[in-house]
Amino acid sequence: MPQVETQPTQQSLAYDSGAPTGPAPFESWGRYPTYGANIIPLHWQSDFLAATRNLHNGALPVGMGRSYGDVCLLKDGNLLVTTGMDRLISFDPETGLLTAEAGMSLAQILDFAVPRGFFLPVTPGTKYVTLGGAIANDIHGKNHHIAGTFGCHITQFELIRTDGTRLLCTPTENAELYAATIGGLGLTGFISWATLRLKPIVSRKIDYEGIQFHGIDEFLDLTNQSKDIEYTVSWVDCASTGRNFCRGVFMQGDHSTKKDELKPSPEPKLIFPFDAPGFALNSLSVSTFNTLFFHKQIHKRVVSLQDYEPFFYPLDKVLHWNRMYGKRGLLQFQYVIPWEHAREGTVAILKEVAKSGLASFLAVLKAFGDVPSPGLMSFPKPGITLALDFPIKPGKSFPLFERLADMTLEFGGRLYPAKDAAMTAAQFQAFYPQWQHFSRYRDPLLTSSFWERVTPNF
Ligand SMILES: Cc1cc2nc3c(=O)[nH]c(=O)nc-3n(C[C@H](O)[C@H](O)[C@H](O)COP(=O)(O)OP(=O)(O)OC[C@H]3O[C@@H](n4cnc5c(N)ncnc54)[C@H](O)[C@@H]3O)c2cc1C
Repeated sequence: MPQVETQPTQQSLAYDSGAPTGPAPFESWGRYPTYGANIIPLHWQSDFLAATRNLHNGALPVGMGRSYGDVCLLKDGNLLVTTGMDRLISFDPETGLLTAEAGMSLAQILDFAVPRGFFLPVTPGTKYVTLGGAIANDIHGKNHHIAGTFGCHITQFELIRTDGTRLLCTPTENAELYAATIGGLGLTGFISWATLRLKPIVSRKIDYEGIQFHGIDEFLDLTNQSKDIEYTVSWVDCASTGRNFCRGVFMQGDHSTKKDELKPSPEPKLIFPFDAPGFALNSLSVSTFNTLFFHKQIHKRVVSLQDYEPFFYPLDKVLHWNRMYGKRGLLQFQYVIPWEHAREGTVAILKEVAKSGLASFLAVLKAFGDVPSPGLMSFPKPGITLALDFPIKPGKSFPLFERLADMTLEFGGRLYPAKDAAMTAAQFQAFYPQWQHFSRYRDPLLTSSFWERVTPNF
């Protein structure tokens, strides 16, 4: 490699990652469920084997806990927190190949890469996730229709198993473990480091266009017209019915090709300071928010040049925004329904949500493309994906979720484990019929509360 940098990055201290130090409880982003666990911080690659020797009750490597449900939790078990393993190992500016320890966050990668003219090949809606967490959930971004999932850009990683084996995994070497680990929910072993192919950029800016739409057909037309635009995503109003049903704002953008200063991002300063009271989010406040959001864009079409931070990470501006949902926490629901039933399935589910009165104000609609995911258990497939946030309301939220998950199944779709805290074992096993094949690659000492919930008798 022409250029190798071995300086550990120090920026991690500058971020409030939300990751625990010492005995503080480890929460997932939805703050539901909450479980006690023994927290073991890892600092060096060798720490994993030392930490898993003679452990009782199983273990699970975890990152920043930005998964919403229980894929990053292990009730009464041992959580191996990787955020202390955040060193950059090497970078080659000729190829854009960056190798880093798995606890390095995407925020840290951006801070290093953007001033050097590089960007993440795929990014989720928050930059506060680790490299290991992004691989283990095989995350997707607004460019799925062009770039596929995060795993498509991972050229190699090291997997350490609790029996002491250390394996280099690539698409051709230990290929089965490579495929099982990408989207493998942390269950196949510990990813100690990984190599990611970054993409070149010449500006921080995004050529942005926001377009209002009314109804699913306008959304589908816009999706067809924007096939060559790298990033597309829509916010949809799922509280309105009648003529405003399924109205939204289609947001699209490409990296600007006009050269501009490539400086690092400022640190976020705002913090949501306390848990909002349970009554703060109700159907009135949610539908008011939806109406305001729709009309925030006054014109049908708005064109602007905007920084990548508000384009990709609008929610990262306020740290701990999940406290807005109060102490009970929030549930996310994200499905993908294949094209065959995508239109009717999306309309039926949006109607069910509006009818429930539990409408979400963070509703994100997007079309997945047909770039194959490299992971055996990866979530994305071609079709429409919808992600919704709901506050937890006793007696209401879970029955709604069960109905929505059953509807997803009827329309041939599946739910995203990274966002889930509620699907039943039967639903999971129908969504992911390959789960038994996947189990063959599991490390016998690693498990999660999600896995225990969805495969209870295995
Ligand atoms: C505001 C917000 C927006 C989001 N937007 C998107 C989006 O657009 N697209 C998307 O796909 N997701 C999205 N997510 C979900 C998030 O990207 C994923 O849940 C991500 O995996 C979280 O990474 P983490 O480092 O917090 O890992 P954690 O949540 O701590 O863990 C996730 C999984 O990774 C495993 N894991 C972590 N580190 C390792 C390791 N070193 N070795 C092996 N396994 C490991 C864990 O066991 C667990 O199964 C969003 C989340 C939030 C909060």
